[in-house]
Amino acid sequence: MQAERARLVQDALMARDIADQRVLAAVNDVPREAFVAPELAEFAYQDRALPIGLGQTISQPYIVALMAQALELGPDARVLEIGTGSGYGAAILSRLAAEVFTVERHAELALLAHDRLAELGYGNVVVRHGDGGSGWASHAPYDGILVTATTPEIPAAIRDQMSLGGHLIVPVGDQTGPQQLLKLTRMSPDEFDRTSLGSVRFVPLRPGRAGDPRL
Ligand code: SAH
Repeated sequence: MQAERARLVQDALMARDIADQRVLAAVNDVPREAFVAPELAEFAYQDRALPIGLGQTISQPYIVALMAQALELGPDARVLEIGTGSGYGAAILSRLAAEVFTVERHAELALLAHDRLAELGYGNVVVRHGDGGSGWASHAPYDGILVTATTPEIPAAIRDQMSLGGHLIVPVGDQTGPQQLLKLTRMSPDEFDRTSLGSVRFVPLRPGRAGDPRL
């Protein structure tokens, strides 16, 4: 698997526009096969999204790397991820930042991701089951916020949890229509610089349910 992972880093990331050495090292280190069902492990090092159950997907490695690179995280950073899914993205972020807070609306996925991350030793990740549509206020502000599900509009509550100089990466658009991956940088309390990182395809950001007491 290590050889396949190194090939993925070379062919799908370095051959494109991923140049951040810390991001490349993280993708090279995190065993993506551990974040999918055993019968899908053989596809783990193809550069594509894979189903993880409940109609959700583990993102394509290139997109995970693109988003991680765009967050410009330093080793002391505190990050929020909305949409834990398999936990793979959180594992990548955990190698780039000091603390990762991640929230998932499906209890089954949140529990599975929590157990996997603990078993693999990613000790600086906190998984919560609940609605991430309004962020996670108690640990704000965040140097980086990553939303891994698409939303027609950026929720103000999420934007307000960015630190000054912090970055937010979020796919904006409808589930069925075109989506743009946006990068916001907080220039002042009310000023946000905005750029597009290109068109993408994500599952929708949905309203949440009450939190699971096990997490
Ligand atoms: N980062 C994930 C990709 C997950 S796909 C990975 O690496 O595997 C997006 C996830 O967002 C799905 O698991 C979906 O259930 C979750 N999601 C959708 N709406 C949400 C919401 N309002 N709050 C939290 N999670 C949400």
